[in-house]
Amino acid sequence: TMTDVPPLEVTGLTVRFAGLTALDSVGFTVRPGTVHALIGPNGAGKSTCFNVLSGVVRAACGSVRFGDHELTGLPPHRIAGLGVARIFQNLALPPHTTVEDSLLLGRHRLTSAGFLSAGLRLPSAAREERRHRERVREIAAFVGLEKYLGHPAGSLPYGLQKLAELARALCMEPRLLLLDEPVAGMTAGERRRTAAVVAGVRDSLGISIVLVEHDMGVVMRLADAVTVLDFGRLIADGAPGDVQNDPAVVRAYLGE
Ligand code: ADP
Ligand code: MG
Repeated sequence: TMTDVPPLEVTGLTVRFAGLTALDSVGFTVRPGTVHALIGPNGAGKSTCFNVLSGVVRAACGSVRFGDHELTGLPPHRIAGLGVARIFQNLALPPHTTVEDSLLLGRHRLTSAGFLSAGLRLPSAAREERRHRERVREIAAFVGLEKYLGHPAGSLPYGLQKLAELARALCMEPRLLLLDEPVAGMTAGERRRTAAVVAGVRDSLGISIVLVEHDMGVVMRLADAVTVLDFGRLIADGAPGDVQNDPAVVRAYLGE
């Protein structure tokens, strides 16, 4: 389902932590249905930027507009409610819960009467549960995990657990996905597979993606646009090929 995805417009974003300017008047625009990579050496401010976008860190100034909504100042659950889903760098799925149940829980914000709570067995709740289970199976098939729905998440190889997290985020029916180093720690095969799924999320579902990633191969293959940060400042912004050859970018990476 192609959703109605607005642009994400970040302007003059500044974040300070006790004397340190983690982001210094950073601005970029994520066009609808594109992969926008946010790269830079360690400490550049990438995670801080995600923290502001998802509402866990307050900006000193600047704005983040997502369509008609200003995101700065909103609490995390309101931002999630607008269709902004974040996937963290570390594994976050409960290991003993089946993939299917984790994905169903991912649909929680979309449920009306809480069909997940035991006891109440109204026909309407049963219908709603069936509808959600069908959607969960579709999403699992989309990322290639349908065989593993009944397995505890913790029993899956690392790469598949990361894909299960992506699937759980997709269960929120997001319009914008924030991916923090999705292929870190993966084998070459897992990286290829994950990159293909991310491309599919953009191309088939039309979802916008902000991608923080250290693997330049993955960035260059997937990204439609790249923003480069260094010490909290934007040092380059543009098409992947141009940014890669930008002298300021080369210097920032060599100086790491
Ligand atoms: P990146 O993700 O690009 O590696 P971060 O956004 O994590 O960079 O960090 C940017 C800078 O802000 C770093 O110097 C880091 O130490 C600092 N920083 C990040 N979060 C906090 C925090 N909660 N309190 C204090 N300093 C922080
Ligand atoms: Mg980081």
